[in-house]
Amino acid sequence: MFEPTFSASSTAGSKTDGGFGMATKKATDYSKFKELLLEKQTAIEKQIIGLRKKIKKSLDEGRVFERNSGDPDSDFVTESSEIERDEMMIMQLEKNLREIDDALQAIDEKFYGECQMCGKSIDKARLRIVPWAKYCYKCQSSLEESQ
Ligand SMILES: [Zn+2]
Repeated sequence: MFEPTFSASSTAGSKTDGGFGMATKKATDYSKFKELLLEKQTAIEKQIIGLRKKIKKSLDEGRVFERNSGDPDSDFVTESSEIERDEMMIMQLEKNLREIDDALQAIDEKFYGECQMCGKSIDKARLRIVPWAKYCYKCQSSLEESQ
């Protein structure tokens, strides 16, 4: 299960054959991550649709409320800040969808699981938690520090 696949290339030196077999193994391995990504993609799409409906509903109700109430200001503020929060969430989810798209493309183009910064393979344990990760833990940390 936990064969250190990279040790072959670093210690082989004289014996460099057998790489193809490993590549095939690697490709089948990532199909699990593809499933995971597709599942997550569907879930996020549903979540976005739900939030959009909720916003639309709040806007409709907000308008009715504004017409009928004598002093709608305070309630209207609450309503709009909630909408704002939902819109922020949608933006976050859409960003996540783009990351998932990128990851799915990376799987198809066979560079999935490689850090886009240092080129090292991203830890599988990390990919299980963040299957759309583009960077290894080290590079991600240094990116977040520099932001
Ligand atoms: Zn890296």
